Amino acid sequence: MDRLRKNFLWSGSNEVKKVHWVSWETVTTTKAYGGLGIAKLADVNLALVAKWAWRFTVEKDALWRKVVEAIHGGRGLWCFLPVKRAFTGCWKTIVCWLEACCMQGKKLHQYIRCIVGSGDKVRFWNDIWLGSVDLKTRWPYLYKLEKNKKCFVRDRIRRGNNGWDFCGEWYRSPATVVEISEFQDLGEMLQNFSASNTDDKWVWDCGTIEVFSVANCKSLMRIGRDASRPHNMQWEGWVPIKVNMVSWRAEFDRLPTRDALVKRRINIVDVACPLCEAANEEINHLFVGCGYSFGVWNYICRWCKLDPFFAYDFDDLLQLFRNVHGGKWRKKIVRGIVMVTVWVIWKTRNEKVFQQVSRQVRDFGDPRFEG
Ligand SMILES: [Zn+2]
Repeated sequence: MDRLRKNFLWSGSNEVKKVHWVSWETVTTTKAYGGLGIAKLADVNLALVAKWAWRFTVEKDALWRKVVEAIHGGRGLWCFLPVKRAFTGCWKTIVCWLEACCMQGKKLHQYIRCIVGSGDKVRFWNDIWLGSVDLKTRWPYLYKLEKNKKCFVRDRIRRGNNGWDFCGEWYRSPATVVEISEFQDLGEMLQNFSASNTDDKWVWDCGTIEVFSVANCKSLMRIGRDASRPHNMQWEGWVPIKVNMVSWRAEFDRLPTRDALVKRRINIVDVACPLCEAANEEINHLFVGCGYSFGVWNYICRWCKLDPFFAYDFDDLLQLFRNVHGGKWRKKIVRGIVMVTVWVIWKTRNEKVFQQVSRQVRDFGDPRFEG
C-alpha cells in the first residue's frame, strides 16, 4: 500500500518508474518539522484500532461490548481489554496490537482516565482515577492484601465526616512498614479527592483534549520519532497545496532543475537556465539570480508596494515576509504571494522547456497569464 502511495505522490506506477525526490521518512514527517505531513499507514491503522479500546471503555452498555465480555471476559486477572489467548480472531489481534502499542513511553490504557462520579463503573485498583497511575501499581503491597481485586471505587470509599473514608476488605490488616506507609499514602491522597453524584466520565488524558480522537492518537505516535530538519518554509493555507509544494521542494533543492537531474545521473545535454541561458539551472539561480526572476521580483515589489529587496538564496525569499511592515495579515499575504510567484516562475520555466513558450516579465501582470 505504501508503495502505491509513494508512486502516486511522484506520478509513477508499477510500470513507469519516476524519481522519488524526497525520502518517505521526510514525506511522512509533520509539516512543523519540515515534512509533508502524510501519515504512515501503520500509524493510521494503529490509531483506528486504538479507538476500539476507547470505545470498549466508554460504551459500557453497548451490545458489541457485552459480546466481547461474554466471550473473552472471565474470572481471571483484570486486564484493560479482556482476551482469551486460546481464541483466535479479530478481537485477539486488536488486543495484541494494543498491548504492544506505546506512545511517548506510555501504554495506551494510561491515557484513559476516569473522573469519578458515582464510582460504580470504575475499578478501584485497576483503572486510573486517582493520580496518574492505577492504584495497584502505586501501592502493590496493599493490592496484595485486597480481597476483591476487581472492586469498584464505590465499594471502597464512602463519604465520611471529614471527606472520604476508605473501607477496605483485607486478607489481613496492613502490618509491615511498607504496607502501613502505603496505607498512609492512600489516606493522604483521598484527602484531596472529590466526587459527585453524576455518572463516571472517561477522558482521554493527553494534556490537551478530553475526548479520544484518531488524529490526536496519530500525533502522539509521531512525537519523538519525527526528526526535525532546519527549514524556513511555513505552509500557507490561503494558497493552493500545489503552490506550497513547489516552495517546499525548492527549499530542499528537490525540484527537477537541470542541475539536480545531472546530479542524479540523468543524461541532460544542456544544463543552462532555460529562461536566461546565462548560467547553470539550479534552484538559487532560477528563483533568485536569474535575470527573468529578478524582473519578476521587481514587479512584485512595485505591485505590493514593498521596498526593493536583495535575496542571496531561496531561503531569503521564504523569509522576505519578516521584513514587511504591518500586521500578521500583511505578512501572511506577502508570504503567500512569494509562494505563488515561485510557482509561476517554475511554471514559466516548464512551459519554456516542454512547450517552447517564451514569456516576458511584462506578461506577469497580464490577467490572461494565469495558472
Ligand atoms: Zn536564468
